Amino acid sequence: MRPRTIPGSTGRSRPVRLLGDPALTEPCQEVTVFDDGLARLIEDMYATMYEAGGVGLAANQIGVPLRVFVYDCPDDEDRRHFGHLVNPRLVETDGPVIRGPEGCLSLPGIEAGTPRHDHVVVAGVSAAGEPRTVTGTGFFARCLQHECDHLSGGLYVDRLTGLRRRRALRAAARAPWATGSGESRR
Ligand SMILES: [Zn+2]
Repeated sequence: MRPRTIPGSTGRSRPVRLLGDPALTEPCQEVTVFDDGLARLIEDMYATMYEAGGVGLAANQIGVPLRVFVYDCPDDEDRRHFGHLVNPRLVETDGPVIRGPEGCLSLPGIEAGTPRHDHVVVAGVSAAGEPRTVTGTGFFARCLQHECDHLSGGLYVDRLTGLRRRRALRAAARAPWATGSGESRR
């Protein structure tokens, strides 16, 4: 089914919160009100994700502490997966754990090999409150796990250990955006 408008086309891009911003480490709240405000938030999230060139975005990355994410992400077979989920939860994680390159709009310019399950199922609801289940493999499974982590107040660098973790955090500390608040990016 075709959406009436291109997602994000009516949205307003908002500043992305960066590593160190407390909005990124607080667990998000369940959405209980399915109104125009929620629809607008999702539009703004699409607009923000597209402007920043990301494949996914969680609401707390724009400072809204609600369990919502959007995605427009290829899998390993180059199939495009595109949509949003409200109140998502990981209901299945299986398949081999694969270490693959992962980045985040909240740590721009940094990438690190991060272990993730190759197959996941995420259940949630749409902006209208209708049940939705999303299955992901490969890079898309990675994206879904990454976004679920955000909503629990986690970042992919939390999944790193040893040298990989030290390297990523050192690069983040030296990044041009590292000083000051999230405002410094714009
Ligand atoms: Zn991220």
